[in-house]
Amino acid sequence: MKALDIRVLGDPILRTDTQPVAEVTPELRQLIADMFTTMYAAEGIGLAAPQVGRTERLAVVDVEGARYALINPEIVTREGSARAEEGCLSIPEVFGEVERPQRIVVRALDADGKPFELAADELLARCIQHEVDHLHGKLFVDYLSVFKRRSALSQWDKLKGDYPGLIRKVVAGMEKKSKSRSAEHNATAAGEV
Ligand SMILES: [Zn+2]
Repeated sequence: MKALDIRVLGDPILRTDTQPVAEVTPELRQLIADMFTTMYAAEGIGLAAPQVGRTERLAVVDVEGARYALINPEIVTREGSARAEEGCLSIPEVFGEVERPQRIVVRALDADGKPFELAADELLARCIQHEVDHLHGKLFVDYLSVFKRRSALSQWDKLKGDYPGLIRKVVAGMEKKSKSRSAEHNATAAGEV
């Protein structure tokens, strides 16, 4: 298992619709394993295939131990509404409040290709919705008001020079080094996904 490079805002793949997965192959399982490794190394709670430069309709999440690979996920029920701060591994250090349905039911295939349904609320529901958006070229900044989006994007303009080639390098096993900083982020944000 290896940590993959994360694509950051500006890479067109983040705006590309994904292709449904036709078959769960050993290669796809390897991709799932590498995506988990990448997500943990970057201290995220979710990661979608386009964020690592892939076009498969696939995301991984781990919210407080609720760990799922979601292949071809589809949100079939949405209820309520909640507002909370979000971040994104592809737009590091930029956060914004997003209103989303509070409870969802998602239908997907697991890493063995078996269909399952998952009812989620709170942070897990938010994280899954954020990932499903990624699979259709949508990013959390798209939900911000014009003014807040402009401010988030100008903040990103100043930061993106830190990511040559629009690539964020993550190294598996390095996650402990940035713990204190991440804890600080977690206090204010839902987590980067
Ligand atoms: Zn994201």
